[in-house]
Amino acid sequence: MPAPSPLIDLAELERPALEAALAERGHQKFHAGQIYRWIYRRGVVDLDAMTDLSRDLRAALASEFRLSTPGLVHRETSSDGTEKFLLRLADGRQIESVFIPDTPAQTFCISTQVGCAMACAFCLTGKMGLVRNLTAAEIVGQVRVLVDALHMRETAFNIVLMGMGEPLHNYDETMKALRMLADAQGFALPPRRVTLSTVGLLPALERLAREPIMPNLAISLHAPTDEKRGELVPLNKKYGVADIIAAAKKFPVRKRSRITFEYVLLAGVNDSIDDARKLAKLLRGVKSKVNLIPLNAAPGIPFERPSDLAIDRFAKTLADSGLLVSVRKSRGRDIRAACGQLIVEGQKRSAAQQLAVSM
Ligand code: SAH
Repeated sequence: MPAPSPLIDLAELERPALEAALAERGHQKFHAGQIYRWIYRRGVVDLDAMTDLSRDLRAALASEFRLSTPGLVHRETSSDGTEKFLLRLADGRQIESVFIPDTPAQTFCISTQVGCAMACAFCLTGKMGLVRNLTAAEIVGQVRVLVDALHMRETAFNIVLMGMGEPLHNYDETMKALRMLADAQGFALPPRRVTLSTVGLLPALERLAREPIMPNLAISLHAPTDEKRGELVPLNKKYGVADIIAAAKKFPVRKRSRITFEYVLLAGVNDSIDDARKLAKLLRGVKSKVNLIPLNAAPGIPFERPSDLAIDRFAKTLADSGLLVSVRKSRGRDIRAACGQLIVEGQKRSAAQQLAVSM
């Protein structure tokens, strides 16, 4: 391993921290705004390209700071326009990010961890175990790379934290990334354009409820009873269905907004009319909508996708009981970019790296 660089990584700094770092080194604080605009609005990856800073200042900064950017290893385009990006991080680890066009918005599906500790029974990322958390620079770095690669500097986009990882299991870096993305001198991304999807880490969810920057919330439910959910989501043994629903009822949902409950449909497991009725009853009184995700099947995943008929029947049962329901269109399946299909081979956990589900 190369020795860690003594230079401060600009990509890791929120703007107030950048101002402080500049001031400590005898520079003017206002350069922080200029630097942010170069990195996030104009997409430069090199201090020397920041040409509205004087030559002397650039030289001084180059001896104090660096700017890390994930490397683009490979990109692949699906027949439906979805694009998958394989990115390399400074330590050689790799992650995937996905661009999903016209849904109707332009959407980036961003990772928050290398691998995932949650081990949901139907998810390929879960099979990797957790390799490590991403830093805020690496989370925001995915957005920087995708905006640049897709020439989207002038295009509005949404972000879903539904790539690899459990965002609430990497709480601090995820929230730091959201603050950086929202910065007015940077991407200025409104929090309502961000959706955070969680399997239901309750202490972290309660913490999220008190954050000043509030993304939309999606909760991966997948079954209406502890008995069934426990088979699919190991974390359910710690935080069960009733606790999750209670937390959802208390969650400060924005005006005209709702909590999305994601529900992966598995043939013969959780797709019966009885399951749908129980789900409808469970969600009574919650400001919710249900997003059904027919399983994206893959080798190594011991479940099957229900028939279209079974999917329609399930959706109709929910709708008939007054719930808002949508069925997620599977995008990018031909390039293994769809939900639950993100896995990077060759970097599965070692025993020592495998963290217990500790939250
Ligand atoms: N850890 C977070 C976010 C990542 S996954 C979470 O669990 O919510 C985003 C969604 O894809 C989750 O609802 C997840 O359950 C779902 N998913 C995982 N594997 C899938 C698969 N094989 N087919 C369809 N959806 C899947």
